[in-house]
Amino acid sequence: MAAVWDFPDFDAHEGVHMFHDRASGLSAVIGIHSTHLGPAAGGTRFWHYADKGDAITDVLRLSRGMSYKNAMAGLPMGGGKAVILADANNTKTPDMIAAFGRAIDSLGGRYITAEDVGISTDDMVAVRKETKFVSGLPVAGGEAGGDPGPYTAMGVYLGVKAAARRAFGSDDMSARHVAIQGVGSVGGGLARLLAKDGARLTLADVSAGRAKAMADELGGAAVAAADILAVEADVLSPCALGAILTADSIAALRVPVVAGGANNQLATPDDGDRLHARGILFAPDYVINAGGIINVALEYLGQGDRAEVESRIALIPQRLETIWAESEASGDTPARVADRMAQKLIGRA
Ligand code: NAD
Repeated sequence: MAAVWDFPDFDAHEGVHMFHDRASGLSAVIGIHSTHLGPAAGGTRFWHYADKGDAITDVLRLSRGMSYKNAMAGLPMGGGKAVILADANNTKTPDMIAAFGRAIDSLGGRYITAEDVGISTDDMVAVRKETKFVSGLPVAGGEAGGDPGPYTAMGVYLGVKAAARRAFGSDDMSARHVAIQGVGSVGGGLARLLAKDGARLTLADVSAGRAKAMADELGGAAVAAADILAVEADVLSPCALGAILTADSIAALRVPVVAGGANNQLATPDDGDRLHARGILFAPDYVINAGGIINVALEYLGQGDRAEVESRIALIPQRLETIWAESEASGDTPARVADRMAQKLIGRA
């Protein structure tokens, strides 16, 4: 297996820290991509990886994405991410989470965690017993903070509307059909917001029952997870895992817009070019899905309340507009335009 420095996604990361706790069985990796703008902030993913190298690749890609995301959201935070390597049964124990909290603490504040896929607010409460370098903790009404999912969903919803304005000249979602891949915290929240606007929804989840239940509740249709990327719709909103936009899946898309909350949707930078060549408008994921990190960063920094979080999330559409306008002017893809802007902000132009 290649050394971390030789991984294709290694991007001069400042630190890649491997942790193992014998007593609890915890195996975790924390990636710190950049602390140029502040402590490296980004959530923890709890996931079973068939190959441990995939966990390292995930941490490298996700932590770089967090550097870009935090910079583009105007936050004084660098980029980091953690993954806990789950076993095939996704066994999660209190001892494991406690050991993970101690691992974070050992980094002395260079990395600040929060929730990501497979991690709950309760897990963060348990982590808080071991370290103060954590956010996404329960908050009272009106305060910034708590589960980032609903805030991410809110930003994605506003971004989808901005994309609709650009692609169709109107953000009246009652006239639009949106296909959502993954109806968990982000995708489910997005589906509810769009349903309120009267949008037509097609939903899919690897947990087929979850998609069906939500489709029944909101009045949409559910399709098999394997079929969602080829549904004919106005917008595809990937809200499950990353690397789903590949040469093959892009060739099969039947949408003019891709705008969703999942991190790292493009399998490779070339896939952004492929979308562009097909004339599909793309919302760079780390720009549209910044709502959750805005919420937990303001919680951690003790800056502002829920209204402040919402007013900052309301800026996401403008950022997308700037990127799309620059893309149109330069002929570069939105993904490459956004990367350039972010790299400049973190001192890596
Ligand atoms: P979640 O675990 O609540 O939901 C993910 C859902 O996707 C689950 O229901 C899961 O069954 C489903 N899923 C997994 N693989 C799938 C597949 N191949 N096809 C269809 N469905 C599939 O996670 P979440 O918090 O909603 O996060 C979703 C995505 O958004 C992730 O990529 C995450 O990194 C990203 N994201 C989340 C936040 C946040 O605040 N929660 C913030 C930024 C980005």
